[in-house]
Amino acid sequence: MAEQVVVPRMRGFIATSAHPAGCAQMVAGQIARARRDAEGWTGGKALILGSSAGYGLATRIVAAFRYGMDTLGVFYERPAKGERTASAGWYNTRAFTEAARADGLKAVNINGDAFSTEVLQQALATLKAEFGPIDLVVHSLAAPQRTDPVTGVTHRSVLKAIGQSVQEKTVDLYTGEVVIADVPVATDEEIEGTVAVMGGADLERWVDALLEAGLLARNAKVMAYSYIGPHVTWPYYHHGTIGRAKADLEATCKRLDARLAREIEGHCYVSVNKSIVTQAASAIPIVPLYVSVAYGVMKEQGVHEEAIDQMIRLFEDHIGPGAEPTFDAQGRIRLDDREMHEDIQQVVTARWPRIDTDHLDTLTDWAGCQLAFRQLFGFDVPGVDYDAPVEIDLPLP
Ligand code: NAD
Repeated sequence: MAEQVVVPRMRGFIATSAHPAGCAQMVAGQIARARRDAEGWTGGKALILGSSAGYGLATRIVAAFRYGMDTLGVFYERPAKGERTASAGWYNTRAFTEAARADGLKAVNINGDAFSTEVLQQALATLKAEFGPIDLVVHSLAAPQRTDPVTGVTHRSVLKAIGQSVQEKTVDLYTGEVVIADVPVATDEEIEGTVAVMGGADLERWVDALLEAGLLARNAKVMAYSYIGPHVTWPYYHHGTIGRAKADLEATCKRLDARLAREIEGHCYVSVNKSIVTQAASAIPIVPLYVSVAYGVMKEQGVHEEAIDQMIRLFEDHIGPGAEPTFDAQGRIRLDDREMHEDIQQVVTARWPRIDTDHLDTLTDWAGCQLAFRQLFGFDVPGVDYDAPVEIDLPLP
């Protein structure tokens, strides 16, 4: 037993504590949004890589509670140790798993490095023993580094510009001041490193292994998530190192789509999702300021969406039973359509030059983004008694 009153420990975009009851409440909220009566469930089986937070967690919740899918989740999270709480994704997964099993759904978890051969083999063995061929694979990993399982080389992902450095407004996550960020130019090695981590190589490795093991059902779908964003973010995102990695991911998906179509009448789709507050997104320079403007405008116009809303739309409109996906000219599903709509972007663009420290709260939803960030770790969630000691050392069921 390790009960304690859990307090937030945050430094910029890094949080070193998480509240188990708060995380459970956040997961319960997403389940409530996505849930459909079991009579409407169509079933199926899904493998979600990166299932403990952000888009991967939301995908898993929609697959399970809206469609009745059994899920194998893979993630890299930290258990509690001594006085230190587990990571938020650990508590999220515990809450998800308990709720799914209470509804009679299979929910199995693997905590480990999805880039490693061991975790891939463990997943294949689990699928063989407990699931059989699966209908959906979602690759939603966001990681700072990846050790290539063949060469043993560790690649690092950097968030830098390509060609020329970028000076742009950002918000200092420590002080809340609007300052100018300097995004330096990446070296060729850094570009290659980012592509090696966040490009398509790992997705291809998983799809190869699943196909070879006969673990993809006929008509199975494979999903990867990308981001484009508005022009103001392009110099450091779309045209930067991470954008290069996303281009590689999208090209890999095209290849895999043709192969899956041939071999199992399946598909590999890219979904371009909207920007949301997640741990991964908070680490990107300038993005938190852009996101807080976009959140503000989308809330004012009544079209704000969280990860769970995006994933409900992904299934309902594009990849769920009976849905036919629609694509942009590059063959991608666009869930960022509302964010990128000119009604939103015109206001964002008009506000951008006027934002400074004094106007952060009036021109942006900085407060809402900070709240969303704290809630990622289970803090400031309505209905949670933060004065009560809670058990932090909770095993995954
Ligand atoms: P996130 O930080 O919320 O979650 C990342 C997940 O990856 C977690 O489950 C984590 O445990 C897992 N993970 C990280 N390293 C791992 C490893 N080595 N092995 C196993 N699991 C590992 O991230 P997110 O923002 O939801 O991003 C997921 C995907 O969505 C990424 O491809 C990202 O580019 C894309 N995306 C994000 C946004 C956004 O605004 N957040 C927008 C569009 C697309």
